Amino acid sequence: MRALIILLHLDAGPAERAGVRAALQRLGVTAEEVRLGERTIFSVSGPPQALPPADSLARLAGVERVVPLGSRAPLAESTRAPGGRPVTVGPARFGGGHVAVIAGPCTVEDPEALRDVVRLVHAAGAAALRGGVFKVRTSPHNYQGGGLSALRELHAAAREVGLPFFTELNDPRQVEDVAEFADGLQIGARHMQNFPLLVEAGRTGKPVLLKRHMAADVEEWLLAAEYVLQTGNERVILCERGLRSAERHVRYLLDLGVVPWLKQRVGLPVIVDPSHSAGDWRLVPALARAAIAAGADGLIVEVHPRPETTRCDALQALPPSDFTRLMQDVRALAALDGRQVSGPPAHDAPPLQRAAGA
Ligand code: PEP
Ligand code: MN
Repeated sequence: MRALIILLHLDAGPAERAGVRAALQRLGVTAEEVRLGERTIFSVSGPPQALPPADSLARLAGVERVVPLGSRAPLAESTRAPGGRPVTVGPARFGGGHVAVIAGPCTVEDPEALRDVVRLVHAAGAAALRGGVFKVRTSPHNYQGGGLSALRELHAAAREVGLPFFTELNDPRQVEDVAEFADGLQIGARHMQNFPLLVEAGRTGKPVLLKRHMAADVEEWLLAAEYVLQTGNERVILCERGLRSAERHVRYLLDLGVVPWLKQRVGLPVIVDPSHSAGDWRLVPALARAAIAAGADGLIVEVHPRPETTRCDALQALPPSDFTRLMQDVRALAALDGRQVSGPPAHDAPPLQRAAGA
């Protein structure tokens, strides 16, 4: 059943009221007419296919406004549960009293750097890896990623330490190949509304990390999640990564208020990407800590053993020591509200294969 309210103009007369009544009768929907002082209101309900779009009712003579009732994202809202509905990927548990950190390079390039970063984020206690192989670049002249061979390298490096990994895809035609290797599918901000991609990613049954577009409101973001949920795949992780704003002191303005807001409405885990929002490694730890304090179920952070050597997002990559310190802070902050950080126990990282800066 769907329901909506039709509010008539203050000066709507008997002819307009009769016109609305007749239109509703023709549609065969249940309508109740209520007089509130000078105003007439119709409350209408019926099966979704019987109710016309609100906009077409809003064109009837005498109608001031039509207010649809109920949720536009019913699948996302139906996930609401006390404590949330966690999504688990190997040792990574997002939500349900657990926090998980995904970490790794922006993009998979140099194999040595990859092995180093995988070992060091594993040693620091990250629960999952990240690494782009199909990069979504604003300019076609920038490095586009290493494709399937880089995907295999990331897969091998991840298996070596026993961590799952997430990687981004941007075309439904990549889904089959990527799903063969990756443990989690990342939908980047720019593809949040690539609906065929959302459906194909959903059909794999793998966790779908759905980033918010930099100009999307929460409803548009949740409606994108509906495309995945509609396939029967409930393993959706929402990721806030910052919005386009008038500010230039950060790359994107991080909306941390959306974390507790979403957690009151949906059970899907909500994580935060402090790297793409900050755009600068010096700002990343503070934003990451703020995200956990706001109740985020996890983080996705760019880390690189030698940030100055990477072709992609070099300025925002956290160096190893900063990431290790951040993981300690995340554990301390999560413990403050009784949450646990999932993932392997932290341990000393093996020495890097090349000296930093080499
Ligand atoms: C990324 O995580 O590599 C990325 C490109 O992020 P976003 O889609 O949020 O810009
Ligand atoms: Mn990046």
